[in-house]
Amino acid sequence: MNRAGWIAILRTLWQTSMVGAWTLVTAQAATVRIDTSRAPALKTWADSTETIAREWYPRLGNLLATTQDLPLLSVAIRVNPDFKGIAAASGSSIEISANWIIQHPEDSRGAVIHELVHVVQAYPPNKVGWLTEGIADYLRYAIYEALPLSEFPRPEKPQGYLDSYKVTAGFLFWLECGPAPGIVRQLNTALRLGEYQETLFSKRTGRGLNDLWSDYLIALRPLPNLPRDPQIWRHAKGSFEHQTNGNWTEFENGKPVWNFIEMSRTPQYIEIVDGTRNLRLRLTSPMVQLISKSGWSTLYTGEWSAPASTKPPAN
Ligand SMILES: [Zn+2]
Repeated sequence: MNRAGWIAILRTLWQTSMVGAWTLVTAQAATVRIDTSRAPALKTWADSTETIAREWYPRLGNLLATTQDLPLLSVAIRVNPDFKGIAAASGSSIEISANWIIQHPEDSRGAVIHELVHVVQAYPPNKVGWLTEGIADYLRYAIYEALPLSEFPRPEKPQGYLDSYKVTAGFLFWLECGPAPGIVRQLNTALRLGEYQETLFSKRTGRGLNDLWSDYLIALRPLPNLPRDPQIWRHAKGSFEHQTNGNWTEFENGKPVWNFIEMSRTPQYIEIVDGTRNLRLRLTSPMVQLISKSGWSTLYTGEWSAPASTKPPAN
């Protein structure tokens, strides 16, 4: 081999070792330390929480990663006996109240996860605190605590998503489950770049934020069981009616407009499809849902009613 060849090999070796050293430095840099020097009684709590935090911090970083990201910073958590609130993050420092940990040991690890999300978020100032807190609680409750969707609080009121925290978290979880998979990462990227706009929701789903909230409430409402012999589902403009051949016909203003084949039946709904329009509908109570590749939406609200023949004659 000539001299130029050896130089090329040495250069490659040098570059490889530098990349390796850099990887090692950055991988070891992102750690979490919990300081209990001012609350030594919580040392045992801190040791076990530190293990969880070190495992989850890079995981939370990955869940909210964008391609422009810098490596995660090391986090210092201080257990503070004088801290007036519960916990707060500022940059890569977290303060948490010693008294609160003692009074709420079952919630304290989740609170640390929530604050670690704030460290990862690193958003510039914005006016959508409900979303910042909602994303932090989504990762805490839905991902870290693995709470099922049905157990998130859902206040029955317009714009309930503005309640922030766990309420917004459930709403985001529902969006992730069907209407807009991946929206949390998308919202996070927009917030981090200072480019968030409410239209992001309608761009993803075709529905405005307030409409999505009411869709969420309706979708999660416990459904009454199907009637014993479900035959007619009525809405303001028409009905879906069971035919003697086992299929379903949609009527509008008393005229048949479409035919559907019944695909499945559970105690809560009947699923029907229309091959010509590639439509999949779920007849539930109190709504008919349109199921598509991107999720579902409410098509009509109405209810099951008795077949006309069993009604007492009108007079
Ligand atoms: Zn928070």
